[in-house]
Amino acid sequence: MKIPAREELLIGSHVSMSGREMMLGSVKEALSYGANTFMIYTGAPQNARRRPVEELHIEEARALMAQNHMERFVIHAPYIVNLGNALHREIYRQSIEFLARELERTQKMGSRILILHPGAHVGAGAAAGIESIAAGLNELLSTPSDVCIALETMAGKGSEIGCRFEELAAIYDKVRCADRLRICFDTCHVHDAGYDIVHDPERVLEDLDRLIGKEQIAVFHINDSKNPCGSHKDRHADIGEGCIGFEPLYRIVHHPDFTHVPKILETPWYPDPSDPKKSLPPYRREIAWLRTGTRPSATEYPS
Ligand code: FE
Ligand code: FE
Ligand code: ZN
Repeated sequence: MKIPAREELLIGSHVSMSGREMMLGSVKEALSYGANTFMIYTGAPQNARRRPVEELHIEEARALMAQNHMERFVIHAPYIVNLGNALHREIYRQSIEFLARELERTQKMGSRILILHPGAHVGAGAAAGIESIAAGLNELLSTPSDVCIALETMAGKGSEIGCRFEELAAIYDKVRCADRLRICFDTCHVHDAGYDIVHDPERVLEDLDRLIGKEQIAVFHINDSKNPCGSHKDRHADIGEGCIGFEPLYRIVHHPDFTHVPKILETPWYPDPSDPKKSLPPYRREIAWLRTGTRPSATEYPS
């Protein structure tokens, strides 16, 4: 397999956006991990309160990115939105209103990708959920923009839509502006959904290619999983410490069909050995490990 040059690999992690520096702090955090891309939420993922874009320090953040030849980053929509909720229409309406503003923020911040969990049908059934999600996307995408919505592959927890590629394909089929849809391929979720990326990753990618098109993958979430294939749990593990393991994740990160696609880590922070009340991000050593294939030494990256 052709291993691309290191600088071609786009790899980073979820970083925070908070405090006084907001997006400038996000870029600094990403650089501290040795990343050349990153992912942010525009505020707390659990709520819809957002600061005005004028307070996000976008220009300084973009300047620091440019200085470091960092071109692309992605934004993740919060968990509270649910376009699939066909039972509680006020939640659906609030989701549309929030996402319309989130698309504007994404554009103003300079990203072309807004990652969205497709939604959960909350008891109305998958068909009704898919119908509701497609209607919501049709409404959102009727406003022209350069930003694409990347539907994330889900683990299938509860009534989540999007754990089968067929469900994501059905959404594509019902959306008029499907040219503004993309896919976010989450390794933990795909594995938990029952696709065997450990033993047969090519078959999984072929399935996705046949149903949606592999060129639709605009971002990868690279996570190990605490649970076996098909468990539908969605509990992320640090790289090499879960049921997927390092090798399959390394192969996806370096897959020749996806060199230009950003790879984003969403692995859990681990307890600080010198102060168990604190936790530390695993991203610096995981990025180094996934770039080179060589596990960083414990002295260089203490854990
Ligand atoms: Fe997600
Ligand atoms: Fe994810
Ligand atoms: Zn997850």
